[in-house]
Amino acid sequence: MMQDVIQARIEGLLQRIAAAASRAGRDPSEVTLMGASKTVDPDRIALATQLGLQHVGENYVQEAADKFDHTSSLRQSATWHMIGHLQTNKVRQALDLFDVIETVDSERLAHRIDTVAGETGKKVPIYLEVNMGSEISKTGVEADQLPSLAQAVSACDNLQVAGLMAVPPFTPDPQGARPYFQLLRQIRDRLDQAQIFDYPIEGLSMGMSHDFEVAVEEGATIVRLGSSIWGARPA
Ligand SMILES: *Cc1c(COP(=O)(O)O)cnc(C)c1O
Repeated sequence: MMQDVIQARIEGLLQRIAAAASRAGRDPSEVTLMGASKTVDPDRIALATQLGLQHVGENYVQEAADKFDHTSSLRQSATWHMIGHLQTNKVRQALDLFDVIETVDSERLAHRIDTVAGETGKKVPIYLEVNMGSEISKTGVEADQLPSLAQAVSACDNLQVAGLMAVPPFTPDPQGARPYFQLLRQIRDRLDQAQIFDYPIEGLSMGMSHDFEVAVEEGATIVRLGSSIWGARPA
C-alpha cells in the first residue's frame, strides 16, 4: 500500500521533472532526483531506494547514522548526500556516512574534509553552498566570497567540486524562487568561466517540493524532494 503510494509519487515527480526540462529545451536525463529524507522512517526510505531512487539526502550526521544502524541495507542502497550544515568536528563521521557533501561553505570546512579524505585516499565530490538569504538556512558562503572560497578549494587535492547548492528564501508562489535560481545559475556560469578548476563546474543543486519545476526550467541538475515523495513532515 505505502509502496504503491511512494511508487506513484516518484513516477509522477519524474514526469514533472521531464516536462519542466523539455519546456526549457533541456534533456531530462540532465536532472537527477534526490530524496530529502529528514524525519522519514528508515524503512520508508528503503522502500523508495528499492523502487529506484538512487540519491538520498540527509540534514544531520546523527540522524543518518541512526538510520543506517537501524536499516543496514540503507547505506549501500543509494548515493548519500549531506544537505544540512556540517560542523568541522563531524567531518570524519560524515565522510563515512555520505558520498557527497553539498554544504561546503567555508575554507575551514573544506580543508578539514580535504584532510580526512586524504587519509582514506578518496576524492570527495562536494558542492559549494551559496547563501541566498533564506530564513530556513542561514548557512552558505556569501556570493561575493565565493571566488576566494573556490580558490582555496582548488588547492585541495582530495575535493572535486560538482557544482553549487542553495536554498532560496521561501516564497508562497514558486515563481518567486525563479530569480534566485537564475542568480545561482549565473554565479555557477561565472565560476566555471573563471577557470579556477581544471575541470568544468556544472552542477546546480536547487529546487525543493514546492518549486522544483521552476528550478529545472532554470537549470537545476539535481532537485532535492522530501515531502512530495514521503508526505508531509510532522510539524
Ligand atoms: C528538507 C529539505 C529539502 C526538501 O524539502 P521538501 O519541501 O520536503 O521537498 C531540500 N533541501 C534541503 C536542504 C532540505 O533541508
